[in-house]
Amino acid sequence: MMEYREEDYLMLSGIQHFAFCRRQWALIHIEQQWAENVHTVEGELLHKNAHDPYYSEKRNDVIISRGLPVHSRTMGVSGVCDIVEFRRSEEGVSLHGHRGLFQIYPVEYKRGKPKDTDIDILQLTAQAMCLEEMLAARIEEGALFYGEIKRREKVLFTEELRAQVRADFAEMHQIYDRKYTPKVRWSKACNACSLRDICLPKLGKAPSVKAYIKNAIEEESG
Ligand code: SF4
Repeated sequence: MMEYREEDYLMLSGIQHFAFCRRQWALIHIEQQWAENVHTVEGELLHKNAHDPYYSEKRNDVIISRGLPVHSRTMGVSGVCDIVEFRRSEEGVSLHGHRGLFQIYPVEYKRGKPKDTDIDILQLTAQAMCLEEMLAARIEEGALFYGEIKRREKVLFTEELRAQVRADFAEMHQIYDRKYTPKVRWSKACNACSLRDICLPKLGKAPSVKAYIKNAIEEESG
């Protein structure tokens, strides 16, 4: 199987942007544009709480690890897991420095409530796939914790989700290598997009430069 070099790794969390809108992902991750809005700031705050402090905590039969860095050579991505629970289980894998066997259970924190789309689910699946590759384990299930409803939603890592994650990362690498920002059509998603103001003029919603100059000349000579 093909393996990526570490310097070519993409940000794992970019899969949420990519699944939301390929153009949004390219603007953020290729053109490095970032328009902060309330959504992103709130999201970052919630993440900070989950990542901070960086430590592992032990409770009965569970070791809880926060802010765990993960990567995958085969998908060429790296990122951070908000929380990974290592639950003592006969069916688990052994962990360096710990006696016994453990099942691995990733949990990702999200602002707001469950979405209509799969974007959060894809990100969590990607994290699970990285953990599987790093720890030579099989992970069947994880959870998304939503700040607004303060509840965990279970996610089963199906073959369909895994295939989608692999296909998305492969396409992201292709686009990244070409440094190409895809053009997409205006959709309802644009209303909730934090990059709307940067994206739309480029998509041609604003008057073109030619039209602008023509107007300016007409005004001057009028
Ligand atoms: S404004 Fe619309 S097209 Fe542009 S990046 Fe956002 S979602 Fe994508």
